Amino acid sequence: MSDSPSTFENFKLNKQLLDAVSEAGYTKATPIQEKAIPLALAGHDLLGIAQTGTGKTAAYILPLLMKIKYAQGKHPRALILAPTRELVMQIEEAAITFGKYTDLRFVSLYGGLGPKTQIENLQKGVDIIISTPGRFLDLYRKGEIFTKEIKTMILDEADKMLDMGFMPQIRSILEVIPVKRQNLLFSATFGSKVEKFSHEFLEFPERVEVSPQATTAETIHQVKYFVPNIKTKINLLLHLLEDAGLNRVIIFTKSRKNAESVFSFLERKRLGEIRVIHANKGQNTRINSMEDFKAGEVRILVATDVAARGLDISMVSHVINFDVPLIYEDYVHRIGRTGRAENEGMAITFINPAEEYHFEKIEEIIRVEVPTLQIPTQVEIPQTPFEEKQGYEREIDTQKKKENPDFKGAFHEKKVKHRPNPDQKKEKRGNKNSKAKRNRNQLKSQGKWKKNG
Ligand code: AMP
Repeated sequence: MSDSPSTFENFKLNKQLLDAVSEAGYTKATPIQEKAIPLALAGHDLLGIAQTGTGKTAAYILPLLMKIKYAQGKHPRALILAPTRELVMQIEEAAITFGKYTDLRFVSLYGGLGPKTQIENLQKGVDIIISTPGRFLDLYRKGEIFTKEIKTMILDEADKMLDMGFMPQIRSILEVIPVKRQNLLFSATFGSKVEKFSHEFLEFPERVEVSPQATTAETIHQVKYFVPNIKTKINLLLHLLEDAGLNRVIIFTKSRKNAESVFSFLERKRLGEIRVIHANKGQNTRINSMEDFKAGEVRILVATDVAARGLDISMVSHVINFDVPLIYEDYVHRIGRTGRAENEGMAITFINPAEEYHFEKIEEIIRVEVPTLQIPTQVEIPQTPFEEKQGYEREIDTQKKKENPDFKGAFHEKKVKHRPNPDQKKEKRGNKNSKAKRNRNQLKSQGKWKKNG
């Protein structure tokens, strides 16, 4: 393979596809496309490690369209599974774009709305199904999908699917589709879960990987606050939002529950138009919220990672990580929403005691030590309620056990003693934050945003 990027003409794609690719404005293949397309076209099973933004969708859609070629019969011959409705819709869009000069029929299936239209679409005849695992299985069990002609199976964002607990559904699907088939698995990360699953799913796979784009954009200023408890997170959030400069803000939370709590709290404060998106919100509500936000009619969007994944929301003035993301790569996705196209953006992360461990891991991945800011004096810092503190301690124990399986667990020892010794605790936290303190000292004055560490 030459050093210069391939043009699409170098791949064994037909004219219908090449015309569509060129109309989509693609001239050069991205690295993942360059590596994956020839292998997939040759019929190999493929393990692709690539994030959103690398061009991974076209890397598997083009060979798939080339293989399926034209409409035939009534039943699906390929299945693409993706974790969220948004990603399913996005993949369908790519399929339509590249399949525009073919007569191929795509049907996308996802939850959040009744299955009637989806069933009607299936009954009209389909070549490629793009679906979330749950809805595919529902409709299969209703007898609406004939699976015996499926010869290609693609899993996109496999890591996310496994993290979201879709493994049982994926296994059930694998039981009902033919064993003899081509499998492609794409994942942003290659942790132990994905690795284990890949052995089960893929046969002699070719592995293609593009280096993780963990380097955070130059135009994004990142800062972090160490925040002792949830109440202080809320107070700090309110304080920051008093600044009108934060005019297009996404607040990320790790769960639907937190998203709802933050949303209802802020809504009462009347800080401007605000919306919330998470997996429990109806499809239309989510799309409308996003459109309003994009149009500049909404100041604040509260979102979970799952809901925001794959959504084309950019030009955000500030990203506030109300919670540290548990999937570390999501940090990069989150903050990538700001600082697009030469606009300077800011990413602010709130870190509670149990999240310090996770944020350190994120800093390792992005190879940046994010500067720490002190909580402004105007922000009230209430005491951490006992139960909340216990919760953090329990999590910290789990983290320590993960790092060192011999660790006995300070939390349980303390429980026997009934009460943690406050002095000891203070000292422990002091040590823990020493790195942060050094950082803080470096930042002589508050409000001085240091670029990327
Ligand atoms: P993906 O990683 O598949 O989500 O793609 C990220 C974005 O890159 C999408 O907006 C694609 O349309 C775009 N894209 C993918 N491949 C190419 C290419 N070869 N040339 C230009 N844009 C591309």
